[in-house]
Amino acid sequence: MRVEGLREALAWARGRGVPVAVLGGGSNVLVPDQGFDGLVLAIRSRGRVAETRGGQVLLTAQAGEPWDALVAATVREGWQGLECLSGIPGLVGATPLQNVGAYGQEVAQAIAAVEVLELASGELRTVPAAACGFAYRDSAFKRERQAVVVTAVTFALTPSGPPRVAYAELERALEGRARDLATVREAVLALRRGKSMVLAEGDPNRRSVGSFFVNPVLPAAEEAEVQRRARERGLPPVPRWPQPGGLVKLAAGFLVERAGLEKGVRVGRVGLSSAHALALVHHGGGSTAELLAFAAEVTARVEAVFGVRLTREPQLLGPLGSAPAA
Ligand code: NAP
Repeated sequence: MRVEGLREALAWARGRGVPVAVLGGGSNVLVPDQGFDGLVLAIRSRGRVAETRGGQVLLTAQAGEPWDALVAATVREGWQGLECLSGIPGLVGATPLQNVGAYGQEVAQAIAAVEVLELASGELRTVPAAACGFAYRDSAFKRERQAVVVTAVTFALTPSGPPRVAYAELERALEGRARDLATVREAVLALRRGKSMVLAEGDPNRRSVGSFFVNPVLPAAEEAEVQRRARERGLPPVPRWPQPGGLVKLAAGFLVERAGLEKGVRVGRVGLSSAHALALVHHGGGSTAELLAFAAEVTARVEAVFGVRLTREPQLLGPLGSAPAA
C-alpha cells in the first residue's frame, strides 16, 4: 500500500472512531481468539532504492518488502551489515520495532533511519537511528507504544565489507570455510534450520512465532540471585553475557529447560518445539487462549525456580498505540 492509500485508510478509521491494527508478515504476532474488531492494515508496499554516499550504501526498503529476500539481495551485492539476520521470516517494516537480532547482529547496527506515518496527524516523519531508542529487542516505537506505522527503513551497509562474526556457534559453523557474506548466510540458514527456526514445509515445529520469550537482561544483583538459586538446586550456572551499564543477559531457553520443561513437551494442542525450548508450538486445532495458558505455565515455572519473570516477545494483534493485551 502506498503512503497515500495508508493515509486514506487511517483517516477513514479516525473519522469513524474505528481502532486500527497493523499486520506485517504475521510471523511474530498472536491473534486473539475473538479476533480484532477494527481495521487491520496489511502492509504490502514494495520497492527498494540504493545509493552510495560517503563510502556506504544507503538502501531504503519499503515496509512491505519481505525481509529475507532483502537480506539475500544485500549478500549477493556484497553489502555487509545484514548477513547474520538471514532466514528471519516477516517483512522489513517490523524489524525496527523490536530491533530484530540474531547470531551476534541486530538490525539497529545497520539502520540509518526509519520512516513512520503518525496515526494521529497523518504526518510522515523520518526518524534518525539515534532517535529510535534502540535497545535489546526493543525500540522507542515499541516501548512507548507509539501510534505509528513504519512505512520504510533505510539501512547503511558497507560495500565489499567482510562479514561480521561475533557469535561462538556461528564461528564454529564457519571453521575451515570461506569468510564471505554468502558463506555466513548459508551457515546461519543451516543453524536456523537445525532449530526449526525457518519456515520449512512439513516441519511440525514450524508452527511457532520463533522465540516466545525474550532473554532477560538483569541488574548484576538480580542475576547473582538467579545464579544462587541455580547453585542451590545443584544446577549448572545459567549462561550469562555481560551487557553495557552493569547489566547481564541470561539465556531464557536454559531457564525454561532447567525449570523442568523439556523440548517437545506437549499440553493438549500446544507445547514446546522439539528443536528449541524457547519456541512455543501450536500443533493445530487449538486456540490462542490455550497457547497463552501454556506460556503462563512456563513463566510461572521459571519464576518459581529462578525468581525471574520472563517477558513475552510476540504481541497480541491489537489497536495501535495501546498497551498490549495480557
Ligand atoms: P543460543 O545459541 O542457544 O544461545 C542462547 C542465548 O544466548 C541467545 O539467545 C543469545 O542471545 C545468547 N548468546 C549466545 N552467544 C552469545 C554471545 N556471544 N554474546 C551475547 N549473547 C550470546 O541461542 P538460540 O536461541 O539458538 O538463538 C540463536 C540466535 O538466533 C540468537 O541470537 C537469537 O536471538 C536468534 N533467534 C531469535 C529468534 C526470535 O524469534 N527472536 C528466533 C530464533 C533465533 P541473543 O538472543 O541476544 O543473541
